[in-house]
Amino acid sequence: MNIHEYQAKQLFRAFSIPVPQGGVADTSEQAQHVAQSLASSSWVVKAQIHAGARGKAGGVKLAHNPREVADYAGTMLGSRLVTHQTDANGLPVNCVWIEQASAIKTEFYLSLLIDRDSERLVFIASAAGGMDIEAVAAETPEKIIRVTVHPAAGLQSYHCRQVAAALLLNKEQQGQLQAIMTGMYELFWAKDCSQIEINPLIATEEGNLVALDAKINFDDNALALHPDIAAMRDASQEDAKEAEAKQFDLNYITLGGNIGCMVNGAGLAMATMDMVKLKGGAPANFLDVGGGTNKDKVKEAFKLILSDGSVKAVLVNIFGGIVKCDVIAAGILAAVEEMHLTIPVVVRLEGTNVEQGLAMLKNAGLGLVAAEDLNSAAEQAVKLAEAIA
Ligand code: ADP
Ligand code: MG
Repeated sequence: MNIHEYQAKQLFRAFSIPVPQGGVADTSEQAQHVAQSLASSSWVVKAQIHAGARGKAGGVKLAHNPREVADYAGTMLGSRLVTHQTDANGLPVNCVWIEQASAIKTEFYLSLLIDRDSERLVFIASAAGGMDIEAVAAETPEKIIRVTVHPAAGLQSYHCRQVAAALLLNKEQQGQLQAIMTGMYELFWAKDCSQIEINPLIATEEGNLVALDAKINFDDNALALHPDIAAMRDASQEDAKEAEAKQFDLNYITLGGNIGCMVNGAGLAMATMDMVKLKGGAPANFLDVGGGTNKDKVKEAFKLILSDGSVKAVLVNIFGGIVKCDVIAAGILAAVEEMHLTIPVVVRLEGTNVEQGLAMLKNAGLGLVAAEDLNSAAEQAVKLAEAIA
């Protein structure tokens, strides 16, 4: 799960990571009040969305008086911000964060994440931080250092000295960095994070280290242990279909193509998407209805696919191992009963009660196309989608 920058900065503050003074607002009047309440001569207005690269997309603005803060907030609020980390529709800006503008001397990059190869947490740091870190990673990867921390020993001073040396910090800043890295490390464990990123971490003109940006991702599987974090969820930032799918415990991810896929088991779903690609098509989604699924879940899954306007054909690929094929067929029929079926549906069922399942679909007289194997199912779905598109 992702949270907003302003929420991440609250957590930073709680773990002694220095952040600028600021406040959140969802109207331009409120934004102006926040600016007036902060002792500063300039302010930064920041669109709160669950994506980065806002600066380059006009989502981070420097204002020189509270009136200007209100104007920027007014422009951002209610709009959708498109950055190179969002899709073409962007994400809705429902609130803005206003903070004191910092006098920036240097921008660093500092993050903490899980390194699956070494099975440890790793700090990643660079003296070349800021908005072009992706270019640094691609063109001059030697400017990025990695320091792994052994879980039994925990974070040690020498880890911090290694990072401080790479960032060319002075003695006083080394102490500040140690406090920041300690805060990040403790926060990571305390809240079951999967990533904490500070980009940029800055040295101010006065020489102090401050986290100007804050990004935290959490391990969804641990959210039940952290009601305070779970309460930070902002569903408006999530794909509406993915959020709906979550309610029904379905594994659903929106993709860019036009063939809706309903599959059971993540491996079979991946293989199905590969087959669609191989036949020259593009999947509209990844959907795993789960191994031990039931009629209601299948129904909701099918409704979800049909409600996607870009879907021109549906490919159902189910192996009835734990679940029986007639249960799947009943779910499909229940969904079609509620939704008007206007696009072709190719069904490939295999496994327990396959004859019953296929007979149910055939007798319903909905014009469903029954395919013998995955190869021909994918081929037919792609052809039918092309014919409609
Ligand atoms: P994003 O990563 O989404 O582009 P950031 O929070 O990193 O958003 O802001 C982009 C840039 O804006 C930063 O790299 C920094 O140069 C500048 N910036 C952000 N917050 C402040 C601030 N409080 N004071 C001065 N400059 C800021
Ligand atoms: Mg940033």
